[in-house]
Amino acid sequence: MTGIMLITGGSRGIGAATARLAAQNGYDVCVNYTSAREQAEAVVADVEQAGTRGLAVQADVSDPNSVERLFHICDLELGTLAVLVNNAGILEPQARLEDMTGDRIDRVFAVNVRGTFLCAREAVKRMSTKHGGSGGAIVNVSSIASRLGAPGEYIDYAASKGAIDAMTLGLAKEVGGEGIRVNAVRPGIIETDIHTSGGEPGRVERIAPTLPMGRGGTAEEVAEAILWLASDKASYVTGSFTDIGGGR
Ligand code: NAP
Repeated sequence: MTGIMLITGGSRGIGAATARLAAQNGYDVCVNYTSAREQAEAVVADVEQAGTRGLAVQADVSDPNSVERLFHICDLELGTLAVLVNNAGILEPQARLEDMTGDRIDRVFAVNVRGTFLCAREAVKRMSTKHGGSGGAIVNVSSIASRLGAPGEYIDYAASKGAIDAMTLGLAKEVGGEGIRVNAVRPGIIETDIHTSGGEPGRVERIAPTLPMGRGGTAEEVAEAILWLASDKASYVTGSFTDIGGGR
């Protein structure tokens, strides 16, 4: 399946690598971002360079009105959605649970969980054969943290990814007969800006020697798995998890 792919958090890191690879595979790409407009526009320029259409749309995935607007603009400017990549996600600075405020926990769950649900809801409305759509694929970007728990660093983040895993299983069963496949990738330690948000820019270098493969992964390596799950090559795959953690 090619067609139109909407990627939340497509301005940087894994989302940006996915947008670039998607364009090379023939997709038109809607690149969502919150604040990094120039970076989102640079990703769109790369998409267009690959010969497909690109569109950058600012939207906060945790906000229902913002999400509705994002999908509406994608409909109007690009057309019928084929693939949603639920990639936008945040980390707060490393902390033990007893030092986590309610506001922090709410922020993490608002973007990572509510955002993933809201975007999946808009995708299902458009893709489901029950609603007159012609099917599609949703790829959620979870994390290996959902099965490791991230102790001493960000249990809140790990729990938010656990919620995404449960949602992936449930939604895959809910819409499996309506032409929509729902899968998740679970990256391990990947070289992106997110570790700076967690307060440790050098986290990949610190942890890499402890990993079975002895290195962190790249955003491009995660993008390859996302593109495969989105494609017809994975036509009988739904409710599955692809761990991309170098053996972690
Ligand atoms: P990143 O480099 O920090 O990029 C995050 C992206 O999400 C940016 O495009 C950012 O937009 C966007 N974003 C943040 N909050 C948003 C919101 N409220 N609404 C819309 N977009 C928002 O992160 P990354 O490492 O590529 O992570 C991407 C996904 O992979 C996340 O779900 C993360 O949890 C997951 N993951 C990453 C790793 C890793 O080691 N890197 C491991 C496991 C899982 P702006 O540029 O506008 O700020």
